[in-house]
Amino acid sequence: MAAQDNPDGGLTVTSRMRELYETPGYLATTRGGQELRDLYQLNSNKFNASKLSSFGLACYVAQLDEVGRMIVTGQAPPLNGTETPYKFSYATILVAGSQRIVYTPPGSGKFAETLKLLLSKGCPPDVPDICLYTALHHATMNHNSRPELARILLEHASNVNYLNKYGSSAISAALLSGHVGAVDILMEFGASLDIADADGFVPGNSFVNYGPQVTAAVTKWLRKRSGEQAPLDEKKCDFCGKKDDGNQLKLKACSACRSARYCSAACQRSHWKTHKTTCKAFTPSNTVALKPSYDDLGGPVMPIADFRRRALGLPTDATPAHHMCSAHQPAAFPKSVIVKIQVPYVGDMSREDQVRFASYASQSPMLVYTKKRDFVCQIKRPDNPAAYDRVAKIIREKGVGAAKGYFAAELKSADELIVKVGELLAEQPF
Ligand SMILES: [Zn+2]
Ligand SMILES: [Zn+2]
Repeated sequence: MAAQDNPDGGLTVTSRMRELYETPGYLATTRGGQELRDLYQLNSNKFNASKLSSFGLACYVAQLDEVGRMIVTGQAPPLNGTETPYKFSYATILVAGSQRIVYTPPGSGKFAETLKLLLSKGCPPDVPDICLYTALHHATMNHNSRPELARILLEHASNVNYLNKYGSSAISAALLSGHVGAVDILMEFGASLDIADADGFVPGNSFVNYGPQVTAAVTKWLRKRSGEQAPLDEKKCDFCGKKDDGNQLKLKACSACRSARYCSAACQRSHWKTHKTTCKAFTPSNTVALKPSYDDLGGPVMPIADFRRRALGLPTDATPAHHMCSAHQPAAFPKSVIVKIQVPYVGDMSREDQVRFASYASQSPMLVYTKKRDFVCQIKRPDNPAAYDRVAKIIREKGVGAAKGYFAAELKSADELIVKVGELLAEQPF
């Protein structure tokens, strides 16, 4: 029946590995956790799908018809069982295939459908392997993860907070890999950011270090959970909810607050009754006028997280070409732009220390830019001391990671940028 009498997938478990993973409790890095991670990874490189059972192989390549046929005819092994010395469940084997297979022969590659079939026929979503990784961990931990498979697992009652041998749930690895789609799905299904792993690492304390897109995804869900709302949470019409896909639909801003967005004049009119209670127009008291400087920045505009990820040897997306432009005189003067303002980086400090450090850091200019980088400038404190201090204080007290904030703004001329500092917008993915 099976292609292999003893299907091991090419994997072996050494006695040292067994000793480590059989240690009771969660494994801290220095108590063998790192050694086990390394051994697990090293051995995984020998994974060979042709050494799975024929059912395991059909799951790996997501051969929907063959998997279904074997289940119906009773040729499939028990679906709650595992294969290989790593004790991979059939859901995990399928997820592994989805991340490794480049070429899918005809009739295979139907990962979503095959996973749904397995789960509906009795394959449990959470079968821990030797390091207590579930299929959900595997489906969200890599840069090439497929979030749609994670969604299917979660819709079939996978435990989003299942802890692996190191005491961490799927969200930790998803944050570290910077996979926004995976982070988004895990947050949607209630991933906790408060669980300390065996090393005492708490995801909620550090997610702002993983870049603007990850931060925007996390904070969007944190706000939803707490029932709060921030202006410009998502790029969609504030009345009908139609989304800006970046091409056809051009959302127009409310001319007063310049943060509400509408797909049409009709939607804007219909929403006014509600919107007028929160619409805050640009006024002298809630805005500051800043004088931009277009001196050379000495390099491209790059999120701090990219430097950090590179330093940790983690994959980073290539910097888009338009990010490579430095400060420059703007070509147009839009009445309504969303700007990101970054205060000088003062290292990994607590919020209290950053506030205390502010006087020292204010020697350096703030950086201001739009998503498209069609407007990039510096704000130097000597040019506008009072306005600089007001903006910096707001960002250090209420901004993302005490380092940056997003605001509605108007570029009046190359020398005058009006920023509505009275209202901090939701974190934007740039
Ligand atoms: Zn609309
Ligand atoms: Zn408005």
